[in-house]
Amino acid sequence: MAFDIDMIKEVYANMAKRVDEARNIVGKPLTLSEKILYSHLWDGTPSKAFTRGKDYVDFAPDRIACQDATAQMALLQFMQAGKPKVAVPTTVHCDHLIQAKNGATADLKSANTTSAEVFDFLESVSNKYGIGFWKPGAGIIHQVVLENYAFPGGMMIGTDSHTVNAGGLGMVAIGVGGADAVDVMAGMAWELKFPKLIGVKLTGTISGWTAPKDVILKVAEILTVKGGTGAIVEYFGSGAKSLSCTGKGTICNMGAEIGATTSTFGYDDSMERYLRATDRADIADAANKVREHLTADDEVYADPEKYFDEVIEINLSELTPLLNGPFTPDLSTKVGHDMTEKATAHEWPLAVEWGLIGSCTNSSYEDLSRASSIAQQAIDKGIKMKAELGINPGSEQVRFTAARDGILGIFEKLDAKIFTNACGPCIGQWARYSDPKNAPKNSIVHSFNRNFAKRADGNPNTHAFVASPEITAAIAIAGRLDFNPMTDKLINENGEEVMFDEPTGWELPPKGFEVEDAGYLAPDKDGSGVAVKVALDSERLQLLEPFTPIKDESLKGAKLLIKAFGKCTTDHISMAGPWLRFRGHLDNISNNCLIGAVNAFGHKTNLVKNQLTGDFGGVPDTARAYKAAGVRSIVVGDHNYGEGSSREHAAMEPRHLGVAAVIVKSFARIHETNLKKQGMLGLTFTNESDYDLIQEDDTFNFLDISEFAPDKQLTIEVVHADGSKDVVKVNHTYNAAQIGWYREGSALNVIKRENAS
Ligand code: SF4
Repeated sequence: MAFDIDMIKEVYANMAKRVDEARNIVGKPLTLSEKILYSHLWDGTPSKAFTRGKDYVDFAPDRIACQDATAQMALLQFMQAGKPKVAVPTTVHCDHLIQAKNGATADLKSANTTSAEVFDFLESVSNKYGIGFWKPGAGIIHQVVLENYAFPGGMMIGTDSHTVNAGGLGMVAIGVGGADAVDVMAGMAWELKFPKLIGVKLTGTISGWTAPKDVILKVAEILTVKGGTGAIVEYFGSGAKSLSCTGKGTICNMGAEIGATTSTFGYDDSMERYLRATDRADIADAANKVREHLTADDEVYADPEKYFDEVIEINLSELTPLLNGPFTPDLSTKVGHDMTEKATAHEWPLAVEWGLIGSCTNSSYEDLSRASSIAQQAIDKGIKMKAELGINPGSEQVRFTAARDGILGIFEKLDAKIFTNACGPCIGQWARYSDPKNAPKNSIVHSFNRNFAKRADGNPNTHAFVASPEITAAIAIAGRLDFNPMTDKLINENGEEVMFDEPTGWELPPKGFEVEDAGYLAPDKDGSGVAVKVALDSERLQLLEPFTPIKDESLKGAKLLIKAFGKCTTDHISMAGPWLRFRGHLDNISNNCLIGAVNAFGHKTNLVKNQLTGDFGGVPDTARAYKAAGVRSIVVGDHNYGEGSSREHAAMEPRHLGVAAVIVKSFARIHETNLKKQGMLGLTFTNESDYDLIQEDDTFNFLDISEFAPDKQLTIEVVHADGSKDVVKVNHTYNAAQIGWYREGSALNVIKRENAS
């Protein structure tokens, strides 16, 4: 479990040197984000001042964290790299595959049965390749990372969008796709567009019912769900220093909900307290020695408009509790009367059926203690609980300590369900209904981060509102969405009018954290003898075979598989939902390949013509038929093809099914890179209007693929059913190394060869 203090000291030693160099090159004082970015350059010393929002830069992250759903394909791919161990400290966390139903003990037992083969695979592959393994029930990835691995000034990537949570401890922590994580595990650089910078100045202090959650709910209201795109949000000011470390984690966590690359805070006393409380005094001591590098230069915060691309100011003393939702996390309403009006106007149910406290966003000791102070008042004042209450502690360490201190016992006295230390309802792992699609309209309140339709319980009619843990507790107890605990009275069991007092709690456990078994398994020092467990007949896991290079000859006579019409996101290419189950089995998940894409001929989904037989069928079946006949296939698409997530399955599936090239008007960049990594051709029409030339029965002849070279267009002859031909020019962005990936079948094949030589 131990973090590597020597590695952290090395980061700090580099930082001291590189920050000075970067300041000279940039020619002005630096923000904290720039200090961390410039001190983690792959090439070490900065060679130039990078243009924010424009330059692509190679970085060298300090750590990687993977959750159980995304780790499967990432680690199956890593196994292809031929490396004996991961190049960068890495951990795997089993938290997404545990359904909340009957309570922690029963639910964990059930998950350990239903997902046994996935957990066994992850445990064995982690053991083999030097990866720390956190067992099911050990906790939610981001809470465990904050407690054990995050450190001020560090850079990490994680295969989960809420990796950004570690900004609460002063990191630049960024969510990535599995393919990016595999690169770094295999010892390659990680590329990122140098982010823009948004500064958020916090003044005043929060008090009473207002919580750190309300800060990010307010920021989400101001910036909306897209406002942080491509930017790091850096919080500063006296208000920032007044917040606890886990409170800062909450704020950074929900930076994902405004689309931010990540969010971070400068190192301060709250972080030092948290490091010491979580048994990391040596990191605090090391950080104290480089304190000036772990926050922005003084000039930056004195005149932020000069150094950030955008600046927002929030006075915490004026901030009041908010409820954001339903269906989007940026729709803010002040608790109380404002909600009465809005809910009535929009016909949102005012009765609240569930309150849920937990998720990686709000599951710290402080969160549970403050919410429990409200629960205790309900017991003391004889208030009957109106809604149901569910709790997911963030980690076994938090759960054990909260149980020891009587916090969980308070919730249990109110008949709350204590679920597993895992994601549970936050990711739809909640057995609330037997038939969610036909479940009734209702409202719930939770302290999670996302509240899109169906996210928690699969019911499209559930109106989910996001709030702080203490407001969630109060509203669940009152059973009304528009309950204002600051002004409203409740009638207790004796018929008396009573009111809640302000919540109280502890930033950190007064008696310290304690845990008997944190749920961590350290890997073998020498994993060479460890066998990775994958059953040959498994439906959910499949060892990967290296992709073979696409031969130039096979690019004569390639057939159109589908001409996608309009938007074609990674969800259209590789759907989520029930398919998540097959994320570790390439052949099985390939049965969802492009089934959401609209065919430009006939405008139906998952119905394309097999040119060999003339029959119409599903996209995966047709691709398999071409592959079986030894015929390569081609996908044609519109603008921004592959936008959405960074999921590598969207590139691996067509590659697996024999697609040789994806030719589009334009690509979403990450997907284009993923195609390159899998050894395929990702090409764009030189004349966008050539998209219109492509017909249903087209055959493609790549005329000059043997001369594939950087900055050189390719020429394709498109032969139509009537024998007529069009010659189409296509562009590409492959550099020499990427052409090497294509020529050798994949980027991993190149790494494997280099490793072997
Ligand atoms: Fe993702 Fe929710 Fe789990 Fe956090 S708790 S990692 S948001 S599923």
